Amino acid sequence: MVEVSGVHKFFGDLHVLKGVDLTVGRGEVCVLLGPSGSGKSTLIRCINELEQISAGRLSVDGELMGLREKDGVLHRRSDKEIAQQRSKIGMVFQRFNLFPHLTALGNVMEAPRQVRGLSRSAAERLAREQLERVGLSDRADHYPAQLSGGQQQRVAIARALAMGPELMLFDEPTSALDPELVGEVLAVMKELAASGMTMIVVTHEVGFAREVADQVVFMDDGLILEAGRPGEVIDAPQHPRTQDFFGKVL
Ligand code: ADP
Ligand code: MG
Repeated sequence: MVEVSGVHKFFGDLHVLKGVDLTVGRGEVCVLLGPSGSGKSTLIRCINELEQISAGRLSVDGELMGLREKDGVLHRRSDKEIAQQRSKIGMVFQRFNLFPHLTALGNVMEAPRQVRGLSRSAAERLAREQLERVGLSDRADHYPAQLSGGQQQRVAIARALAMGPELMLFDEPTSALDPELVGEVLAVMKELAASGMTMIVVTHEVGFAREVADQVVFMDDGLILEAGRPGEVIDAPQHPRTQDFFGKVL
């Protein structure tokens, strides 16, 4: 589903991704761990083409992202091509960014209405299904300010799911939450994983990684230092930097 090969990313002179290789199969859950500043967010933003890669190859569902060659010339894809590709990818951020003036239902209906062009009744039916999926049927008419952080993040997940993505990217989805609200969001993500969704999750929740990940990837300073089963990377890391990281967080 996702193929990353020799990917580099520069911000000006700052070399942030230094040759990243990563393969995530369809239906797999990949958990990305690593210290702050190691390039995790940049990598997943490149996968969603919110950032353009500087070098290497990156494809999602067989579609090459970023620059591509045509008639011997490298060119950027059209905004339409990028939008089409991105519609297959759902993204959930640390900050939920719900529209404050719309109810939970309204927030989930918005993209199906505006982007997919569904009728009001079709979008509402779809939105109610997605709210049910994240356990919020009884909060459909609540505004974000009337919801807890955990509920808001579950609305954000429902909103992403309403676009029918084939790949879900999560960037520290529980980092902004009070500790007692983390579990309900992780539970929704666990269900999603069990339903066969392909997921890449940046998180510091090692328990979630251990329980749900097919593949755990440890990133440090723009490079993937280790990747493998949770039992390998978390419990028996080979690289001293990985040992040091898990020594601190566990
Ligand atoms: P992580 O998510 O692992 O904490 P990031 O991918 O956010 O790491 O950041 C990696 C490095 O790239 C950091 O040094 C950060 O300051 C830098 N960086 C991220 N985004 C930008 C940007 N848009 N412009 C310049 N530097 C950036
Ligand atoms: Mg980050």
